[in-house]
Amino acid sequence: MQEGEAITKHGCTVAFAGSGPLQPAKLPPTSKACFNPPRLAEPLTVLPGVGPATAGAAGKLGLAVLGDLLFHYPFRHEDFTSRKKIGELKYGEEATVAASVERVALARTRRRSLHLVRAVVRDETGYMQAVWFNQDYLAELLRPGESLLLRGSYGAGAFKVREHEILGRGEAGLHTTGYVPVYATTERITVKRLRGWLARVRPLMAQLADPLPAPLRAELRLPSKADAVLAMHFPRTPADFRQAERRLVFEELFLLQAALLWRRRQFAALQNGVKLGPVGELTKSFIRALPFNLTKDQKRVCSEISADLQSPRPMQRLLQADVGAGKTVVALYTMLRAAESGRQAALMAPTEVLAEQHFFSLERMLAGLPVRIAFLSSRLKAAERRRLLDRIASGEVDIVAGTHALIQEGVSFVSLAVVVVDEQHRFGVSQRENLAVKPGGGGPVPHALHMTATPIPRSLALTLYGDLETSVIRSLPAGRRKVGTWQVPEAKRAAAYRFIRRQLDEGRQCYVVCPLIEESDTVQARAVETEAARLKGSEFSGYRLGVLHGQMPPAQKQRAMQLFASGVIQVLVTTTVIEVGVDVPNASVMMIEEADRFGLAQLHQLRGRVGRGSHKSYCLLFGDPKTEQARRRLAAMESAADGFALADLDLQIRGEGQLFGERQSGLPDLKLARLARDQEVLALARRKAGALVGAGRGLAGPEHALLRDEIKRVFGDVGRLGRV
Ligand code: ADP
Ligand code: MG
Repeated sequence: MQEGEAITKHGCTVAFAGSGPLQPAKLPPTSKACFNPPRLAEPLTVLPGVGPATAGAAGKLGLAVLGDLLFHYPFRHEDFTSRKKIGELKYGEEATVAASVERVALARTRRRSLHLVRAVVRDETGYMQAVWFNQDYLAELLRPGESLLLRGSYGAGAFKVREHEILGRGEAGLHTTGYVPVYATTERITVKRLRGWLARVRPLMAQLADPLPAPLRAELRLPSKADAVLAMHFPRTPADFRQAERRLVFEELFLLQAALLWRRRQFAALQNGVKLGPVGELTKSFIRALPFNLTKDQKRVCSEISADLQSPRPMQRLLQADVGAGKTVVALYTMLRAAESGRQAALMAPTEVLAEQHFFSLERMLAGLPVRIAFLSSRLKAAERRRLLDRIASGEVDIVAGTHALIQEGVSFVSLAVVVVDEQHRFGVSQRENLAVKPGGGGPVPHALHMTATPIPRSLALTLYGDLETSVIRSLPAGRRKVGTWQVPEAKRAAAYRFIRRQLDEGRQCYVVCPLIEESDTVQARAVETEAARLKGSEFSGYRLGVLHGQMPPAQKQRAMQLFASGVIQVLVTTTVIEVGVDVPNASVMMIEEADRFGLAQLHQLRGRVGRGSHKSYCLLFGDPKTEQARRRLAAMESAADGFALADLDLQIRGEGQLFGERQSGLPDLKLARLARDQEVLALARRKAGALVGAGRGLAGPEHALLRDEIKRVFGDVGRLGRV
């Protein structure tokens, strides 16, 4: 799907949240005067000695045009600053020496594998012998009279050369003088080659336009873009480099936050939503009929949502809450607010199993209320499906549960006012983008509530969802007790099974989660079946076991879930299929095999399946952590119960890149910033971006042309950021 494109299906225009309502035309074009030098866009082949083959190889490093070279930062520098004269060299000390060649000879040693090239070199303070190991070709290459830069150390009567450079044959001193950049390379694109290219494009650095507003730069004492990029490659001092890096990290986070906040501001200016009335009788009687009182946090979030719904601006709200904190009630509240105004609502879950669970809880919790609900299952026969689609299109259904098929397959609603997305983090980013479903003819955009049960650190939330309003449920319902969590050594396995049997005998239920098998779902399914058979024949003989895994046909999955929910099945042997959303309050033990192979967020989700009722619950972690990271993860699980605290730990342990694994690809590509490390810079960038975007015309002002330009360049193809 291209930006700005709209698909029309069944009379329903589906516009993308990230693109539809935000038209690029709202921003004036960038004035030519402040563009970056056009040479930045020239291909690498304009460099001497770079042909198509080399350019192709450079492509693998993400280097296509000269501009890419400028922003291909080194990952470290070698310190070649200690320049010495031959007469000043101290024994054993590493130094760089400039000298000229007197004579050269190849020397064989007694060891066949060791060849030496010896050269007598001199400067104005004296002579010395320089030695290279196993670089025979140098005997040919080095000519008397030639100037060299030598890096190495002096000892045992000779200077052992680690790096050398022949001056006058290339760029002088590139590889052995000052702080020398070390770049990510490939076999064909060597570091020396890259340094050569960088030296060529160095004059362009000085011409780089600065996207940061000058007053901001002055206020924060940031070096200019030109100086910063230069210092990233060729710093004069370590402090020079650190300042440059700080500036560029700030810039990166600032651009991202400006983009997200600008998008939020544009959302806020929209008036094409559905303005709902105040809380009505239906919602009130739903709340009254609940077997519990809403927690303070639940109440607060409901009123935040209610205020959004009563505005003509389409809601774009993220609800963050820990596992088991009670998001479902909030979701129902939001949807009932639509239904009581005669509008429709959709509830989307990432998997069919979860969507169905939601449908069952809708049935249970809305029983007796005048609301018509439906489940758009993928199992419906063609005729059934058509009938249901007709009912949705004609308004005979108030609330529809389903997977993202609800928006992807062009389901047409007569008056959709609310979309709730559960377990937001399981949806691909593009699907999150797809949420502004706009009925044809410029009709209203529905209110969207994104819910995530994986608490994410604030820094990450700002980065991923910085364009959304945020509500948080921090407290769990009263009476919840911490789930006792232990790592169980293999030696205590039998005791663990005894413990579980006692729980089962007391009427509780148990999950057994099998190891993660990445190779294939079929193998995983077989592992589940095998483990269930083994347990049935041994530890749990005489108990009622069931299996649930991704390879089962949907009807069987549903049956297994129902049997477990109703207590017929006592032990459910399963996979991470049950990771999200499943709610069986009677289950009190979560046993996880090879827990060391799961991520922290995933473990926390799994643990969240128990401790949902009044029974004291337990999480038993098996597996032998082999890495430091895994050890820290399991220790964190034992000590921390709070998902928000765990999320911060996870970020510290793993860094954001791996935090969510593949399924959370929504993270914008940050080149220099590291969320775990740069939280303070992020907070600063957020503040400054907020001030800038919030004032006057925001990003639309002519003085921000460059800033807009750079945001487009950096995040432009990332449709997820929408238009700026
Ligand atoms: P999650 O946030 O993980 O989706 P759920 O909405 O499934 O959590 O709620 C977890 C359990 O807590 C459910 O059994 C639900 O009925 C119950 N619950 C929700 N809110 C409250 C409350 N205020 N008091 C007591 N129990 C509650
Ligand atoms: Mg839930």
